[in-house]
Amino acid sequence: MPLARTRKTERLVLLFLLFISVFIVTACSWALWQSWQDRLQDVSVRARNQALSLSRQAQDTFLQVNIALDEIARQTDEVFRRPEAYSGRSGILAGLSLPLPQLAGLFVYDKEGNWLATSRDQPFRQMNNADRESFIWHRDHADAGARIGQVVRSRSTGELVIPVSLRLNDAEGNFRGVALGSVKVAFFRQYYGWYEQSAGDLLALMNTRGILLYARPFPDSVLNRSLSSSPLFTNLLSQSRIGSATWHSRLDGEERLFGYARLERYPLVVAVGYETRAMRQAWWMSNITGISVNIFTWLLVLLFGFLVLRQLRASQRSHQALMRSQDELTRLNGTLSDLAMLDGLTGLGNRRQFDFYLEKSLRDSALPVSLIMFDVDYFKRYNDEYGHIAGDRCLQEVAALLKHLSLRSTDRVTRYGGEEFAIILPGTHARDAEKVAHRALEAIRRAALPHEASELAEKIVTLSAGISASFPGDQPDALKQAADRALYAAKKAGRNCIAGTEGICLL
Ligand code: GH3
Ligand code: MG
Ligand code: MG
Repeated sequence: MPLARTRKTERLVLLFLLFISVFIVTACSWALWQSWQDRLQDVSVRARNQALSLSRQAQDTFLQVNIALDEIARQTDEVFRRPEAYSGRSGILAGLSLPLPQLAGLFVYDKEGNWLATSRDQPFRQMNNADRESFIWHRDHADAGARIGQVVRSRSTGELVIPVSLRLNDAEGNFRGVALGSVKVAFFRQYYGWYEQSAGDLLALMNTRGILLYARPFPDSVLNRSLSSSPLFTNLLSQSRIGSATWHSRLDGEERLFGYARLERYPLVVAVGYETRAMRQAWWMSNITGISVNIFTWLLVLLFGFLVLRQLRASQRSHQALMRSQDELTRLNGTLSDLAMLDGLTGLGNRRQFDFYLEKSLRDSALPVSLIMFDVDYFKRYNDEYGHIAGDRCLQEVAALLKHLSLRSTDRVTRYGGEEFAIILPGTHARDAEKVAHRALEAIRRAALPHEASELAEKIVTLSAGISASFPGDQPDALKQAADRALYAAKKAGRNCIAGTEGICLL
């Protein structure tokens, strides 16, 4: 395949590989991103729904206690008049708390904080709750509503409770005491425990100031911790009562996708958090097969493409090698045909070249073609005198002298055979050819190669020349015969001279 076409095919293959890579990577990334977004959406909906349902449960839990406290407040006079009727396992407070499993107990304190009545079945001890934060708050605030406090350890049972309290007033609205229902943290622990969760997932009940009332699966030591710096309290709750968002938990720094819901009646909020790391892991595990298949397919396509490229390059290399050997062969052929056209002794063109060039010149040239035939005079005697080796050397010197005549590039000097040479002059008239012949004989004479056996007086090597010029349509033989006749005439005229077709010896 030609180089340019191979390059083009290579570029096409590379372009195809690039396109397929971009396509596979983009399509896979988009599909993965989409599946991650779907998962996030699913989890966020689940978290929000769960938070909403837990907020309902929390609201019901506290509302029931609130109703009981309202009932106590309605009977304030009676409680203060007959506290013993309200206390103990068979007392009225026990009756109120009986249907409420979340309650650790119901309590009534007088305005000094002394225990007046309790639903619990225990020896009535003179205890004082005046130091409790909820008691102090009610004493100092006239608000009529129930208040949910921070987690405390119950003085009666020792367990962790969330106090729900209500201010009791006398007829004039003066502070008369506090009614308190303590909600067991264990109640939430049990209820939240029914939800199936992964290890890093979180369920939390907080008040709207960010104080943690319960968090699963964290130890009790985190209770009452302030999470007010969480985006839930700094930002989100002010925008909407229910929602979902991702943030780093202030409890352990772990990133979670949270659903949250604020209670309608109470300043409490429930948050459900799914650990994003676990989500990502689960998402990854469910997609790993698809990802592997895609990567494998991609690698296969790349491999196939590179194999095609390699094949292309290999065939290009072998093509180049073939071209090189073809060039080499052509060059060798040229050399061989050059050698076949050369005379081994003198290095001039040989008889074959003479015939070829004469025919070509006659065929191609519109002008006359001139032919000069040279013959070394008395050369047989030269051989006899000096030997054949010297004869050869003499022929070489004559050839060199003829070769170095300054001729036109189209003129061609050849060895016709034996001690005969020829110059073919395309586009040259006989008169101009005579001048060339004249220069040739002059050059030989000036070289003055000794020839003691020559019959000429100078005793040097000389040439005789016969000239012919072509007429339109002449064949090579006609030109050769004419030149040969002229040469014969020159010999006859005494040698060392030039004869034209008219038989005139010019020297
Ligand atoms: P003329 O002046 O009439 O041409 O006489 P000549 O002796 O030159 O002509 P002739 O045809 O009788 O002899 C040519 C001689 O040239 C005969 C041959 O031995 C010699 N000869 C031909 N080719 C070679 C060659 O390659 N080397 C040598 N040393 N001699 C050659
Ligand atoms: Mg001869
Ligand atoms: Mg001769």
